[in-house]
Amino acid sequence: MRSLNICIDIDGTITDSYYWLDFCNEHFSTNITEADVTAHSMHEVLGVDEDEFLKFYERNKLKFHSNQKVREDAGPIIRGLSCYHNIYFVTARDEGLTMFTHGFLRKNEIPYDRLFVLGTPNKVQKAEAVKCDVFIEDSYDNAIQLSEAGYAVLLLDACYNRKPINGNITRVNTWNEINDIISGLAEENKAM
Ligand SMILES: [Mg+2]
Repeated sequence: MRSLNICIDIDGTITDSYYWLDFCNEHFSTNITEADVTAHSMHEVLGVDEDEFLKFYERNKLKFHSNQKVREDAGPIIRGLSCYHNIYFVTARDEGLTMFTHGFLRKNEIPYDRLFVLGTPNKVQKAEAVKCDVFIEDSYDNAIQLSEAGYAVLLLDACYNRKPINGNITRVNTWNEINDIISGLAEENKAM
């Protein structure tokens, strides 16, 4: 078995895809359901102005992210994977959330080798820097960008990412599925 470099997105990937819905529905007096979330940008889904949404986010980002829960199956699986593989969290969150995000991962007992809080959705450079073997994402645009740069992507299925994928992307539904695929990749690479 070979030790793999696993990159993992945070929001909507280790946490629930729709974690922000209740919080936003309350603030914007909307009644959006999970099935309505067919775009990745929250302001588009909510039908509000982008600037207005960004101001709301800026004021509430700590509360916004504190409310997030780690998916039930993600914690134990990442703990298991971390015994054999390198775990790199790569998030587009703004850099001001770095310490908060370290705290969030520790509080939820999620082990990791490095955390990269990029402040930009462009993750290809970081994937290159850590010699990424597999990238776990929920964003369709990120998945396309990474896969076109040659990286294998596991895309966690959600209403907002159900669009055509290419051969480097595998659509998955659960962290158990991710675990099986990664175990397979590590075995395939055992001679390397
Ligand atoms: Mg995400």
